[in-house]
Amino acid sequence: MSRAPVERALVTTPQPEQGGRRRRHAAAVRSMAGAWSGAVPAIASESVMTLHDLSVYYGDFLAVHDVDLHFGYREITALIGPSGCGKSTVLRCLNRMNDLIIGARVEGSVTYHGVDIYGPDVDVIEVRRRVGMVFQKPNPFPKSIYDNIAYGPRVTGMKVASMAETVEHALRSAALWDEVKDKLKENAYSLSGGQQQRLCIARAIATQPDVILMDEPCSSLDPIATAKIEDLMHSLADEFTIIIVTHNMQQAARVSQRTAFFTAEADDQGGRVGRLVEVDETRKIFSNPAKKATEDYISGRFG
Ligand code: ADP
Repeated sequence: MSRAPVERALVTTPQPEQGGRRRRHAAAVRSMAGAWSGAVPAIASESVMTLHDLSVYYGDFLAVHDVDLHFGYREITALIGPSGCGKSTVLRCLNRMNDLIIGARVEGSVTYHGVDIYGPDVDVIEVRRRVGMVFQKPNPFPKSIYDNIAYGPRVTGMKVASMAETVEHALRSAALWDEVKDKLKENAYSLSGGQQQRLCIARAIATQPDVILMDEPCSSLDPIATAKIEDLMHSLADEFTIIIVTHNMQQAARVSQRTAFFTAEADDQGGRVGRLVEVDETRKIFSNPAKKATEDYISGRFG
């Protein structure tokens, strides 16, 4: 795949001063939305996102050190490891959510189809449209089911032929349409926790992302709602690259093709620094990992 269309879409060209920042920004986002025409690679093994020498600091605290990792096209990758080893920190780097944390700083590079998403003039809104996120606790907006889904396409200025069809498509993709089609105007809070989480997945899908990040998406759900989300992930993998943080090793084994195991090691200053120990096919990680630390973790000897 040619890199140029992705680069053109993500990187804003500085414009001469006319009409104010907000208008220029809105125009840039609109033109980028137009430039997006399903330009994803045809080769299944191609890396969609790559981390190179990634380190993340919170102020002076080094939370994650020197991570090299790539995420394959339409593959589900699970990030596992004990609490505090930096899984969520790494996940948030993939769509620049760490930008919202005061003092958070990233070194190294994070590329999306070869474009450094921390590069100068990269449009963060466009990055987050292409790399959507679903959080631990369902967080629908206090709006109707319909408006929750329509929100992303509206604010990013996406050109859609029919908003009603966009909403229906996203809800069908998230396996929620049949349950909500007769109550689209009802408040999203009227849904169950599991339905709210599928609504949040539909909301992420509505902006036509390429990658979906999921940060422990089932941790607040019961086993039945969890099973529905796991089934949904399998069908979403036909269309999206998915990266999931999970504390649940059975879940990682059930849903992912690749698993990255992180741990936190003591540093010279008495702190603990997160590192990637190994990444491999999920069945290899769970049956014959290369590193002893991984084996100790998956066999329950630590963490
Ligand atoms: P995990 O997802 O593996 O549980 P995190 O990425 O949440 O790990 O945290 C990694 C390290 O970074 C931990 O030591 C945690 O305390 C620290 N950390 C996470 N978020 C912040 C933050 N907003 N400010 C300061 N330190 C943070």
